[in-house]
Amino acid sequence: MTKIPYKIFLSEDELPKTWHNVRAVMKEKPDPFINPATLKPCTADDLRPVFCDELIEQELNTTDEFIEIPEGIRDFYKMYRPSPVVRAYNLERMLDTPAKIYYKFEGQNTSGSHKLNSAAAQVYYAKKQGLTHLTTETGAGQWGTALAMACAFYGIELTVYMVKVSAEQKPHRRAVIQTYGGKVIASPSETTEVGKKILAENPGCGGSLGCAISEAMEVALKTDNCRYVLGSVLNHVLVHQTIIGQEAKAALDKYGVTPDIIIGCAGGGSNLGGLISPFMADKIRGKNNIEFIAVEPASCPSLTRGKYAFDFGDTGKTTPLMRMYTLGSGFMPSPNHAGGLRYHGMSPIISKLYHDGYLTATSVEQTKVFDAATIFAKCEGTLPAPESSHAIRVAIDEALKCKETGEAKNILFGLTGTGYFDMTAYTAYHDGKMTDYITNEKEKQKGFDSLPKVDL
Ligand SMILES: *Cc1c(COP(=O)(O)O)cnc(C)c1O
Repeated sequence: MTKIPYKIFLSEDELPKTWHNVRAVMKEKPDPFINPATLKPCTADDLRPVFCDELIEQELNTTDEFIEIPEGIRDFYKMYRPSPVVRAYNLERMLDTPAKIYYKFEGQNTSGSHKLNSAAAQVYYAKKQGLTHLTTETGAGQWGTALAMACAFYGIELTVYMVKVSAEQKPHRRAVIQTYGGKVIASPSETTEVGKKILAENPGCGGSLGCAISEAMEVALKTDNCRYVLGSVLNHVLVHQTIIGQEAKAALDKYGVTPDIIIGCAGGGSNLGGLISPFMADKIRGKNNIEFIAVEPASCPSLTRGKYAFDFGDTGKTTPLMRMYTLGSGFMPSPNHAGGLRYHGMSPIISKLYHDGYLTATSVEQTKVFDAATIFAKCEGTLPAPESSHAIRVAIDEALKCKETGEAKNILFGLTGTGYFDMTAYTAYHDGKMTDYITNEKEKQKGFDSLPKVDL
């Protein structure tokens, strides 16, 4: 057999022409979104004041397995895609494992993460619809950066509500967003009713993704020609991210490689969902028996310790109700460095697949995550994002298990981004100041108490 190269590249012509929609293949679909006012399933019209029309169609589409990627979006993708699948030969050697480790690298663009894949699509559709302005939230800053890049490209104005602790910890993220023309407001802020309310109740509040979402949605609702866009959790975002999994599958297929294990970090579930979708479709059809593993931080463990329940997507309780694994929209993650993985809920698609036993989940503590990040940086030459390093941790652990058993498993994981803007966290790790925070029962109960009391 031909030796597998260090990097498997696809050509520009091999860039997928469609996204993949795993819901079309799932035997049981995720529950529909519920309108909290009527307790009936959301219609497209319910969602129209907040989201772009074409994205609503994708959001509600449970029947088409493939959705065409418009030429205007493929043109954007070609600036930084197809992204490589890398065989981690150096890491394998260092671990002295018979396992074969592959990773799909999404960090080769200025935003430094996979988030650009959905940003490009969402802004393209907003422009096509004649909108002039978008609002969003950003936690660690990758989504805000990605969206600012796409808005600059397609010509749309952008306001980003950035979680206050991140805005303070990452001034350079803010500067990149501004370079691309985005306006950044630290959340919670005095610019919205919901922000004022949160500040009145808790003046020192460092913010959360849930708060920032509420603020950005409020502004979208009261501004003409403006909509809100979200960088994770929602079905259409996961669909856009399937460019990752389809490219990965095409690259591995060239060398006849089928993964035994696929690992992804899970914040809102979009990169994981995007990476596994085409492989999951084959699994549901009985064509493979891949083990899929979602990895989340021990400080925000929605899959491993949350409830499968209808919940709001934001702290202000303004979104439709989604059935997902959740810690409750009132859950406040400890101000640690899990960055983009600090979200109380989880993609309804990932939640349903997990609930039905198609994937497993595990949680990891952050010093162990940074141990893995450091090993990876040294072996593979890429400084990984802390979020991505959750997946690296479990990939290393699985490879070490193979060392015990002598099995030469094929392990694929998603390397979602680079960590250049996360040096505060790396510094805390090097200085021995990083703590391993595990959510306690009291905090968890407080989150669960915030779950809507609905009988559905
Ligand atoms: C946002 C982000 C994540 C987590 O988001 P998902 O929607 O769960 O994919 C992971 N890695 C990086 C680098 C991110 O920016």
